[in-house]
Amino acid sequence: MPTINENFIKIPATYLFSEIARRVSAYRSEHPDVDIIRMGIGDVTLPLPDVCVDAMIKAAEEQRSVATFRGYGPEQGYDFLRKAIVENDFQAFGIEEDEVFVSDGAKSDTGNIGDIFSRDNKVAITDPSYPVYVDTNAMGGRAGQFLNGQWSGLVYLPCNESNRFVPELPAGKVDIIYLCYPNNPTGTVLTREQLAVWVNYARDKGAVILFDAAYEAFISEKDVPHTIYEIDGAKEVAIEFRSFSKTAGFTGTRCGYTVVPKSVKALSENGERVALNKLWLRRQTTKFNGVSYAVQRAAEATYTPEGKRQVRSLIDYYMDNARIIRQALQSIGMSVYGGVNAPYIWVKTPDRMGSWDYFDYLLKEKGIVCTPGAGFGASGEGFVRFSAFGEKERIVEATRRLLR
Ligand SMILES: *Cc1c(COP(=O)(O)O)cnc(C)c1O
Repeated sequence: MPTINENFIKIPATYLFSEIARRVSAYRSEHPDVDIIRMGIGDVTLPLPDVCVDAMIKAAEEQRSVATFRGYGPEQGYDFLRKAIVENDFQAFGIEEDEVFVSDGAKSDTGNIGDIFSRDNKVAITDPSYPVYVDTNAMGGRAGQFLNGQWSGLVYLPCNESNRFVPELPAGKVDIIYLCYPNNPTGTVLTREQLAVWVNYARDKGAVILFDAAYEAFISEKDVPHTIYEIDGAKEVAIEFRSFSKTAGFTGTRCGYTVVPKSVKALSENGERVALNKLWLRRQTTKFNGVSYAVQRAAEATYTPEGKRQVRSLIDYYMDNARIIRQALQSIGMSVYGGVNAPYIWVKTPDRMGSWDYFDYLLKEKGIVCTPGAGFGASGEGFVRFSAFGEKERIVEATRRLLR
C-alpha cells in the first residue's frame, strides 16, 4: 500500500466557512421568518462585464470551423493576453512578456509557487491572512508542527491595531515573505514608503517577497502602490500575483497571472544563483496546460477602453457599498479599518468580545452574517470582516439594522 504525504494530516480542518454555514442554518431553522443579510461573502456578486461575455461568445464561435479552431495554447498564456497585461499594467517598470505567466487564478499560483522552493526555507506570513499561504506551506513541509493554533516553523507577522496593520520586519532570518496588499481580510494597505521597507529588507537579507495583488483594482488613494514593481529594486526580489477574479468578476470564469522577473534569483545547493523565472516556466509547462482560449479573450477584453469602463463601474459599485458599511459602523462608534482601497472592512468587536461571539450577536440580534476574524489567524481574534460584495439595497438595509 502506498504511504501518504503526512503533511496533509497535520493540517487542521478549515472549519471557518462550514462553521458559519452551520450557525446560520441552525439559527434559520429556529427563526424561519428572519430575513438574513449575508455580508461575509468573499465572492463577487455582479455579473461579468458585457465586453467579456461578448469576447467569449466570439471565441466560442471560432471553435466551430477548422480555420479558426484552437487546440492547446501556450502553457504560459497567449501572446495577445500577455502583451495586453504588460502594456497596461507593467510597461513603466520594465516587465517583459516572458515574465508574465497566465493561469487559472491567483489561488493556484500562490499555492503552487512553493513547488520551486526547497523545504528548508524559512517562511514569514502576515497574520491574519488568506489561508492559502499557510496551508500550502504546511503541505510542502515548511510549516513544522501545528501547536496551540499556530505552526512552529512559520514566522507570523502580526498585523493589528498597535502597529496600525503595518507588519514589523522579522527579528530572525527569513527567506520567503508573503505580503498581500490591498489586504484580505483586513482591507488595509501599505504606502509606497512602507512597502519600500520590505523591498529593502529583502534586498539586504537575500529574501524573496511573494506579493499578492489580487485587489489592486480597488485602490483609490494616491500613495498606495498598484504593483510592487513601483518600488525601486523590487524587480530583483519580488514575484507578483494578480487575478481577474475580484477585478472583473472572474471568480467562476477563472483567470489570473503571475509576474516572475528574470532578475529574481534563489540559491541552488551548490551555491549557484538560479533565476526563478526559469523554474516557474518549467513547473508550469510540466504541470499546467494553459487557460482556455475563450477565457483569455475575455480577460483581454478588460483592457479595451470599453472594458476598462465596465470594470471601473463594477469596482465603483462595490466601493460605494464599502463606503456605506464603513460610515455606518463608524457612526455607531466602532473601530473600523479598510474599505477605502479594498472591498473588505475590518471591524474591532465591541467590549473585547471574541470574533465568534460578535458573529453570533450580529446573527441573532441583527440578522447579519459577517466573517469572524479569528478564522484568518490568531491576530484576527477580536475582529470581524464585512464584505462589500453584495447588493446595495441589502447593504443599506443592513446598515439600517446596525444603526437602530
Ligand atoms: C480572491 C483572492 C485571490 C484570487 O483567487 P483566484 O484564484 O484568482 O480567484 C487571491 N488572493 C487573495 C488574497 C484573494 O482574496
